[in-house]
Amino acid sequence: MKKLRIGIAFFYHESHSFAPIKTDIQAFYNEGYFKGEEIFTAYTQTKTEVGGFLDVLKNVAQVEIIPLLCAAATPSGTVTKEAYRQIEKEMISEIEQAGQLDGLLLALHGAMVVEDIFDPEEQLLRKIRSVLGTQIPIATTLDMHANVSAGMLEHTPYHFGFKTYPHVDMYDQGVKAAEIMLEHLLEGKRYQASFIKLPMMPPSINMRTQEGPMHDMIELATKHESNESIKNASVFGGFPYSDIPMVGASVLVIAKDQQSANIAARELAEKFWELRQEFIMQLPSVNKGMEMALLMQEAKPIVLADVSDNPLSCGSGDTTNLLKEFIRVNQPKTLFGGLTDPESIEKCRKAGIGATVKLEIGGKTSPEFGYPVEVKAKVIALSDGVFYNSGPFNQHLRVDVKGAAYIKVDKVDILLIGRPMSANDPEMFRHIGIEPTSYNLLGLKVKNHFRAAFDPLISRVIYVDAPGVASHELKNFPYKNIPEDIWPLKDIDFTVGEEVESYDGY
Ligand SMILES: [Zn+2]
Repeated sequence: MKKLRIGIAFFYHESHSFAPIKTDIQAFYNEGYFKGEEIFTAYTQTKTEVGGFLDVLKNVAQVEIIPLLCAAATPSGTVTKEAYRQIEKEMISEIEQAGQLDGLLLALHGAMVVEDIFDPEEQLLRKIRSVLGTQIPIATTLDMHANVSAGMLEHTPYHFGFKTYPHVDMYDQGVKAAEIMLEHLLEGKRYQASFIKLPMMPPSINMRTQEGPMHDMIELATKHESNESIKNASVFGGFPYSDIPMVGASVLVIAKDQQSANIAARELAEKFWELRQEFIMQLPSVNKGMEMALLMQEAKPIVLADVSDNPLSCGSGDTTNLLKEFIRVNQPKTLFGGLTDPESIEKCRKAGIGATVKLEIGGKTSPEFGYPVEVKAKVIALSDGVFYNSGPFNQHLRVDVKGAAYIKVDKVDILLIGRPMSANDPEMFRHIGIEPTSYNLLGLKVKNHFRAAFDPLISRVIYVDAPGVASHELKNFPYKNIPEDIWPLKDIDFTVGEEVESYDGY
């Protein structure tokens, strides 16, 4: 019997329209750029979407996996025209050269913005459709923070959003996308979708699914999924730092029949709108947060989380407001990191382990969020910056932060890294000989993902309001392209009513 040929591809970026560093092709090369067979080496046995695709398909005798192109870069500023077009061109050419495909599994983020394209995922799907035609099924995975557009739905109704934040179910959604592909191809099943875009862009600070409003939303989505007619219900919080007309929250339900999809989508959208105020959080200032932390007596470390400079929310990872506070209070058993500073790492490398060097750390990308800090530092350890995540978030994935230096500034331990990377996995510290659990106080460049690995190791998290590009205060940003009426920038009247958009299977 002729095998079913299913292509696998991955194009991943979350773009911050107001972040200073544009995302060029080198950023994709740094993070992950794999073609053909390289994809198996990079993703087999990883807890990623592609890991999920591979695990499902490799066990099906009738399927031949066709690895195409995978490109991912760390969240950052808008993607340059050149980088997007190069990747799009290579992906299309891989698809053309692959010969007849029967299906395509595509891992997307869903919040990419290109210098001159508001909705690149729609464009990518459109270009792929122009090669594959309209009859070949395409299934995608999307981040919970995807700014999903109706345009994307025009090209395929099969999209699977992450249901956890921290996103520890990327793999599971990859599995689901692969399973629907097999049902479509092997069992002839066809599904309908309902999509509702909401006029709101909630900040992600209080979007964890362990508790709070997003917990309630996912609980409702899961309840709908227990209905036999519903295949999948996704709740998208959106990514509010993308200055685009299709920014913001949405819900998407895939079902056996249109009516079931519509009912579930409406109920989810109504609940989402009703809960919106609960996504707003007031955070203490850096000084106040530090004062609170120093008064607490805990057996495990307390984390001060520098959310406004979280690299996974496009922070440059080198703002100095919270860092200065750590150096000012100069307490023993305190650790700050990972602070992006390739220049200082180079100086440490030249000076050597054990040496004392004068450095100006951090503050190089956006001095408006804090100038570099002059310090005298002792170099404790150096590394090439390569480690493997212990998980559960992105478990087993190889990470390369392009060099690292463990330095001591008086009583404060600091980890310098060569490129922006959230401290989401303790291996970032352990690989260079730092044991995060041996400290009382950790200052981390993180938001929520780190809690998947760190929650068992720490006593509590204090999110602080430092200046930075990923501030949770959305009114700080000079939006130009978002809809005029969108919450929370404006208080608006909205009822879900007939806002439902229906999409056919094939
Ligand atoms: Zn996300």
